[in-house]
Amino acid sequence: MAPPIVVQVVVDKPLAQGFDYLWDSEKLGSDPEVGLLVELPFGRSCLVGVVIKVSAHSEFKLDKLKSVSKLAPLKSFDPAALRLMNFASQYYIHALGETIIPAIPQMWKKSENWDKIPKKLIAAAEKKKKKMTQGKSEGFISESELNDEQRDALGKIRTCTEKEMEFKAILLQGQTGSGKTAVFLNWLSRVLEDTSAQVLLLVPEINLTPQLERRVRAYFPEKEMVVLHSGVAEKDRGIAWYEAMTGKAQIILGTRLAALTPIPNLRAIVVDEEHDPSYKQQDGIRYSARDLAIWRAHDVKVPILLSSATPSLETWMAAKTGRYEYIRLDQRAQGAGLPKVHLINTREPQNQFSPGDIGRPKDKSVVTKTLAHAISKNLEDKKQSLILINRRGYAPVLSCGACTWLSKCQHCTSYMVMHKAGALTKKSVLSCHHCGLAKSIPSHCPDCGNADLKTLGQGTQKIEDAIEQMWSDARVLRVDTDASKSSKGAEELFQEIHNGKVDIVVGTQMIAKGHDYQNIGLVGVLDADGRLFSQDFRAAERLFAQLVQVAGRAGRAGKDNQAGGDIYIETQYPESAVFQYLLRHDVDGFLSHTANERQEAGLPPFSYQALVHAEGRSLDKAIQFLAGIKGYLKKQSSISSALRVYDPVPKAVMRVAGSERAQLLIESDSRKQLQEALEIVDRELRENSQGRISKATRVRWLIERDPIAI
Ligand SMILES: [Zn+2]
Ligand SMILES: [Zn+2]
Repeated sequence: MAPPIVVQVVVDKPLAQGFDYLWDSEKLGSDPEVGLLVELPFGRSCLVGVVIKVSAHSEFKLDKLKSVSKLAPLKSFDPAALRLMNFASQYYIHALGETIIPAIPQMWKKSENWDKIPKKLIAAAEKKKKKMTQGKSEGFISESELNDEQRDALGKIRTCTEKEMEFKAILLQGQTGSGKTAVFLNWLSRVLEDTSAQVLLLVPEINLTPQLERRVRAYFPEKEMVVLHSGVAEKDRGIAWYEAMTGKAQIILGTRLAALTPIPNLRAIVVDEEHDPSYKQQDGIRYSARDLAIWRAHDVKVPILLSSATPSLETWMAAKTGRYEYIRLDQRAQGAGLPKVHLINTREPQNQFSPGDIGRPKDKSVVTKTLAHAISKNLEDKKQSLILINRRGYAPVLSCGACTWLSKCQHCTSYMVMHKAGALTKKSVLSCHHCGLAKSIPSHCPDCGNADLKTLGQGTQKIEDAIEQMWSDARVLRVDTDASKSSKGAEELFQEIHNGKVDIVVGTQMIAKGHDYQNIGLVGVLDADGRLFSQDFRAAERLFAQLVQVAGRAGRAGKDNQAGGDIYIETQYPESAVFQYLLRHDVDGFLSHTANERQEAGLPPFSYQALVHAEGRSLDKAIQFLAGIKGYLKKQSSISSALRVYDPVPKAVMRVAGSERAQLLIESDSRKQLQEALEIVDRELRENSQGRISKATRVRWLIERDPIAI
């Protein structure tokens, strides 16, 4: 009799260990291999899992072991992909199974599909080939068309990456409109001359991908390219992932969820807009796709290029200190000038409308007179205006003027936002952005019966209304997630702007990202002050990056559009650093100012942080649970002196959907010692938990490494 084969398999559960199963080669039609996807009986159900070990022994009695029931028609994960998963699992304190399995597209996790998939795949791939040959050549700039500065940058990138099998991290810093994309796509084009080479191109947002996708296709019409983001249909995503992991696709373009895709012949990585917070996964395993990409490049010894107009402080400092190659693009391509920044001090009366002013809006708080005049002038010049306000809906709160009633959510410690009737909702509603609860708008105050309810503050809908009323001849378009979920998708909304069918665009940060608008003469920013004083120490950095980005939308491209356009920012605090550096277009000045602040305060990147999140039925329980962890860490004499463990605190939005939430911040100057502490905590918590729910307090917990929002 042949010796038994035992495989160890991990499944999508918060369990540190793998499970032993018997492997019947004859029945499964193949010998076992590390990295294979299989189906197995688990408890009373069936689960998919990945083989992580093959041996002839088990700690358990062989006759007690169950057998692997089915094998997916997939080749095994390549060794580098498995190393990446292992690293992510360890670093982000997440079990290996709950790291690997969620990274596999849904299509491959349904074992009932396994018999039909291969046929489907071939059919789909054929169809895709046809589609590819019909592609347009939008935005293609060949190497010979690059300007001197771009050509110089491309030359430098090639020189420092010409050695094979060498890790190299490069920061390509250049202001918006300086043509970074054309530089890195021309770089990749040389890398891809080797027809077995694969490259990974990460981009931050879904709404960025269609435009960039066309642009990348234009560069590589002959190359197999796949796109991975949450907007891709399940089946297409399954096929794309398959083509990446089999080495068939040469270009893998995707958002953060592409970060864990197996890419066996990876030769280069680009992370576009590397500072963007959307690279951070905010549920499940809370990884940073950018940081994982850097680790991955280092692991497989390939170059990685990080591109940004406003690099993250971490990356910028690494470039400054010579750990990364530092390449700059300081001119705007196609000769467009820099946008002129205007700070409108909303405290100064001359900026405000007075009673009797012509064109004064009904609600005089919506825009200042100064901005209104600038918009009128811009309309006369036949240019488009972008108005940015970072809040969707009509107004953030509904209030009663006669008593103290406010539209609080009954499940969350937040207010319900008023949304006016539109394509999404047939009638006006109050909606909670945290738990999703929606209610009709009360006609009278629920507390005192007063019929005169007022809105406080403003969102995109209110600004849209006000602007339509102030400029009744102008064509106004709102762009936010609500509008893009309605009949028209984001892509279609942006197309209307590109085609010049719109005069004034009102939108959230969605409008700031990556779109090459052709005719924007003016950008107006409302309500930026809220983020100057956020409790989150990264808020100012984020605001600065966003303002630079949105400013960059003004005055791009266009042969006769040599002027850089204008950006107007309404603020009560024009003297604050964010605005002052923006006024001078001084990105490096702002970063160096921020670096000094962080160093003085001992904040990242001068220290390392982790959060323990706790969520329970009462705040007391959650706080008590976290206090227990703090006490436990104090007792770990080997490590406690290297840590700063703060007191547990309720989260900014303390109650969401009936759960009360708190967090514990752990900080250290040593990455290694922080890691050690987290592993100790994790082990202790697991021993006393069922999954991630504490047995004693029923508090649900999660450890997050390198949080970006505190
Ligand atoms: Zn009332
Ligand atoms: Zn709620």
